[in-house]
Parts: sequence; C-alpha cells; structure tokens
Amino acid sequence: MRRFALCIALLVSGCARDTPPPAPAAARNLVIVTIDTLRADRLGCYGNREVATPRLDHIAAGGALFEQATVHVPLTRPSHASIFTGLLPAEHGLRDNVSPSLAPEVPTLAPMLKAAGFRTAAFVSSIVLSRQSGLHRGFDEYADRFEVDGDDARFLNTIQRPGDVAMKEALAWIQSAGDGRFFAWIHLYDPHDPYEPPEPYASQYAGRPYDGEVAWTDELMGRLEGALQRLGLHDKTVLVVTSDHGEGLGEHGETVHGFFVYESTLRVPLIVRGPGVAPGRRMKGVARSVDLLPSVLDLLGVPAPAGWQGSGQSLGPVLRGTASMAVSEPAYAESLLPLLHYGWSDLRALRDGRWKYIQAPRPELYDLEADPGETRDLAAEMPARAEALRNGLAAHLARERAVATDAAGVPPDLLEKLGALGYLGAGAPRSAPGTAAADPKDKIAEYKVLNRLVREGLVALRQKDYAASIQRFRSLLARGVASFEVHYYLGRALSASGKPREAIPHFEAAIVRLPGFAAAYLELAQCRIAIGDAPAAVEVLRRGQAAAPKDPRLHEREAQVWKRGKRHAQAIAAYRAAIALAPKDALLRVQLGEALRDAGALDDAARALREAVDIDPAPASYWNALGMVLGAAGRLPEAEGAFREALTRDATNAQYAYNAGLAVERQGRAAEARSLYAEALRRDPSFAPARLHAPRK
Ligand SMILES: [Zn+2]
Repeated sequence: MRRFALCIALLVSGCARDTPPPAPAAARNLVIVTIDTLRADRLGCYGNREVATPRLDHIAAGGALFEQATVHVPLTRPSHASIFTGLLPAEHGLRDNVSPSLAPEVPTLAPMLKAAGFRTAAFVSSIVLSRQSGLHRGFDEYADRFEVDGDDARFLNTIQRPGDVAMKEALAWIQSAGDGRFFAWIHLYDPHDPYEPPEPYASQYAGRPYDGEVAWTDELMGRLEGALQRLGLHDKTVLVVTSDHGEGLGEHGETVHGFFVYESTLRVPLIVRGPGVAPGRRMKGVARSVDLLPSVLDLLGVPAPAGWQGSGQSLGPVLRGTASMAVSEPAYAESLLPLLHYGWSDLRALRDGRWKYIQAPRPELYDLEADPGETRDLAAEMPARAEALRNGLAAHLARERAVATDAAGVPPDLLEKLGALGYLGAGAPRSAPGTAAADPKDKIAEYKVLNRLVREGLVALRQKDYAASIQRFRSLLARGVASFEVHYYLGRALSASGKPREAIPHFEAAIVRLPGFAAAYLELAQCRIAIGDAPAAVEVLRRGQAAAPKDPRLHEREAQVWKRGKRHAQAIAAYRAAIALAPKDALLRVQLGEALRDAGALDDAARALREAVDIDPAPASYWNALGMVLGAAGRLPEAEGAFREALTRDATNAQYAYNAGLAVERQGRAAEARSLYAEALRRDPSFAPARLHAPRK
C-alpha cells in the first residue's frame, strides 16, 4: 500500500480517559448519503435562511454536525474515492473524473464491512461513479445502470439518473435487507448541473434552480428518514450525510466546480447521526473526507483490516462526545484539472485551522475565520505564516511524489465504453520544463470560453448540426487548443457531414495524442472505406489492434472489410481474433457463422451459430441463421428445431414460419408444412413465397 499522512494527533481532552463513555446503543447498520455538489451553506442547519431543508435540519439536530468539513479534490470521482478509501488522491491514484479504475489492491469500505458480515449495496446516480470507477468492489448490489445511447458526444458528468430513482431502489433494498447488518451508499446527483428541479421546487425557487435542487434533495432525504422510521431501523443505523464537493455559483468567477480550490467547492456538509453519536453537537474543527472511513468503522465496532492505515483519523471519540475537537489536522486539497486539461498550473492547498494557503504561480493566503469567502489574499501581508504553510505543503508534496502514479493515465478502451469524452484532455499542451505554467486565476475567463466551445461543439454534433460543430472545434484549434478531443470530434463532425478526406488528418492527429483510443482507428478506417481505399482501412485497423490490443471491435471491423471484398479466409480469421477478445459476444459468433457459411464450411458455421444461441438464446434471428445453415447442410430435423425456436421467439416474422414449413416439408410431412405456411401468411398476408405453398381457399 502506498501511503503517507499529514500527522498531528487529534487531541483528546484530558478528562475523557478517566470517565467511562456512556454505553452506546448498538450501531448495527450504516447508510451513507453523498449528495453531489452540495454546498454546506445552502442548508438551514448550516445557517441558510433562503432554502427550506427541514429534513436535513432534523437529521442534523438528532446527530452531530461538522461546521468545517472539507474534501480533498472538488471532483466527483476522486473525491468519492477519498471518502471510501480514507486516502488522499495521490494515494488512491484517482486525480480526475476521467481516470483508470481504482487499483484492486487499494482497500475500500464496502469489502471491509462485507467481511464483517454486512450486506452491502450502492445506488449511484452519475456515470462518473459507474463500476468502471472501481468503487463497486465489495457491494453485493451496485445500481449504476445509465441510459447511454451509444452517443458519446456529451459530457461525461451529465449522464445521470434522477435522485428519486436511486432513492426508490435504495429504499426497496433496505426494506428487503432482513435482520442482518447492512451498509447502503446512496448517491444523489440532483444539485449537480444542469439545475432542473422538479415542481413544486422549480416554481418555488424560480431563478435559483440550484437552491431548488437542494430543496428537492431534502424531500428525498425525508423519504429515507420515513423509511428508516417505518422499518424500525432509525435507532440502529448510523446515517452519514455529506458531499463530494460544493459549487462555485459565480464565486471567484467559477460557475461550477473542479477548477479552483476555494471553499465554495471544498467545503461540504457533514452530518452523522445514530447510535453512539451524541445528539445536537456542532463541531468547529476541520473534518476531512479521509476521516470518514475510520470514523464509521469505529462507530460500527468493526476493526480495520490488519495493516490498514488510512490518511484520516477516527472522529469516533468526538462523535460520542468523549473528546473535543480541540485541534484538527491540516487538510490538503488539490485541483489538477487546469494542468491535465489545459496545460496550466495545477493548484494545491493546505488548510490548518483558520489559515489556508493555495500554491499557485501567485500563491494565496486566507484567514477563513475572518474572511470565509476568501476575498482578501494575505500572502504579501503575512509572509511568515504563508511560508510556514508553504513548507508544510512542500513536505506533503515530497511524500506524494514518492507514491503518486502518472496523473494523466487514462484508460481509453473503458472510457469509450462509457460513451463520453467531454472532459478528456490527453495531449493538452504542457509547459516546457523551466517555464512557468499559467496561473489558473488568470485563465478562468478563457477556461469558461474554451469549455463552452467544447460543450457547444459536442451538443451540435449530437444534434447532427455538423456545420455548427465543425465551427466550434475549428475555433478551438484556432485558439491553440489542439487537444485529443478537439481533433477527434472535429473528425467525427467532418466525417458525418460527408467530408472523409478532411476528417482523416484530424483522426490521425487524435491518434498521435492518444494512441490507445480504439474508436479513433475505427473512425479513421471508416473514412478510408468511404473514399474507396479498403487496403488503407485494413492498415489503419491493424495499427489500432497493436495500440489497443484488447478491443475486439478493431478485429470485427477488419473482418467486415474482408467480408465485403469476399475474402472469406481473412474475414474468418479476423472474426476469430475478435471472439478471442470477447468470448461472450453472441453477435460476433453469428457473424463468424455467416462468414463460414459463405466460405462453404457449413458444419463449422453451424457450430459457431450454436455457440451464439447458447450464449444468447433470445434473438430469433440467431436461431433463423442457425436453421439456414443446418438446412443447407441437410441436417433437417435440427434445422426444423432452430426455425421453431425462431418463430416462437418472434411472433410476427413470416419468414421464420415459412422456413420451418420448408424444413418440415423436406422431411415429408406435407400437411404439417401447410399449416406452417398458413401461419406465415397469417403473420404477413403479403408474404408471397408462402402463398405458393399454402392451401387454396
Ligand atoms: Zn460531484
């Protein structure tokens, strides 16, 4: 395990050791609700008077509230990873929403609780947290199915489910969880942009849709609270409510989150209620995301696995009321987004109590007690304090360098299956060594312009407004943003608008920037085919196979090129290569079967098709293809069986009934065949072949 820690021990108040703590009621279960993008200052219990959050306020009143809870990175995936690993971003390895999966050797909360006998389930509402994130490990159930329609021209983080869906599934699961202990993680995405609260919140919060989403989410929390009461779980369950980051809402010029490391996006609510938690307490010390995992293990009485060491401290003694939060540990935060996506400087921050230092080309120092909005930079006025924090941060970063993996690492094959690329910035220009990267403070306006152009270009592509899409991406190129995504999507728009020759150099440029991205080779090959150059298409696909050796589609596409040229042997070999990479893909076996049939290898073809229907018996067309090959091979009883499977699975297709009739007739059962022809005509009265055979009226 890679790890390091920023360590100052949590001070335990002197008397706490002498008096035995009150015997806590048994904390049996754990429910963690992460409300994405929720600013603490939007909740009544955090002092807000403009947004009605009675259910969250009620939960807070019955539990403990941390006034200064903070995350380590204002992005959904890496921040959730810190919550569920108790590790800082460099330690768990996720630095961006676009990232490899969490490495399998990094321990997470769910497997720890599962090992302790808990049933486990998670209900997530953003594709950023799909199982590709690796956060699914240890969950018996991981509800992360999103409707991705194969259209990747959209922002990764806008693929979401409404919170009431996740909450409904979660409550059904909790209800069925039985008497044993359970852990449920419910992730609600509604306050994330786009802000589209349902009624009555849309009207009540007209002009303030973010607040409307917060109020709507409060209603969802009421449903959870009601269910816990109804099921008698209220007093047995530790309930944690927190968020992965806040939202800029215009502060410091930032609209959403992820770019800066100001409190508008780092500060989140943290409320813990349940057996053993002294109710009604408000803690002023800084609580960090990494503290959560050791805290809930502590409350549940589940020991951490042997040898496990997170970067956080258990807040258990504070929550029980046996210790005060006299001094809290320094809190580290980062944003690598400006660096990873635009080649500007990254941002690192260290907060120690009221003081916060932001490392940037022009560093900043804030007194959060006097100036919570971070409007007055004190770096020049208080150089000694700034230097102390800078030294603390430098020591932290030195330890980080020892454990960090390549922050820019991106898993292209998985990424593309997610069907979304909006945030991908591989190949963004990096500053040359020794030259200072731009300060993100100076780039916020440009960032918004570039981000808007990318978004508009993608939306236009999705809406098939290719001219508008081409215009946006060309404009980005003209502004010096020659990133992977700009070239790739410009190529897509050009190709889709019938300009394959113009698209080709952009796909080539995209491939240079992200060589392992299979879809770029597929698109490029398509352009080569469109201009009538099949050999060049095969050459492109072979390059792709070398660069993305696990992607079956590159072989499948090669097979299709060969098939079109009637090069049966090459097509068969390419299909077999694809199947080796996707052994459970039934359709590939159907295609192989058809290629074998075309090559005259009927028994091999029948075998491939039989394997296809074994893998996926549902599609009637697979059975019909099998029947055709068996019929051609003279294996009539088997052919009849396959056609009958087809016609039962599809009650409308006339061809299948007709084929079954032919197979029956060739076995000498004329009367039976006639009734199948009649069935074909019943399905489609205009189906001419059947009319020749059917009994005359
Ligand atoms: Zn988020």
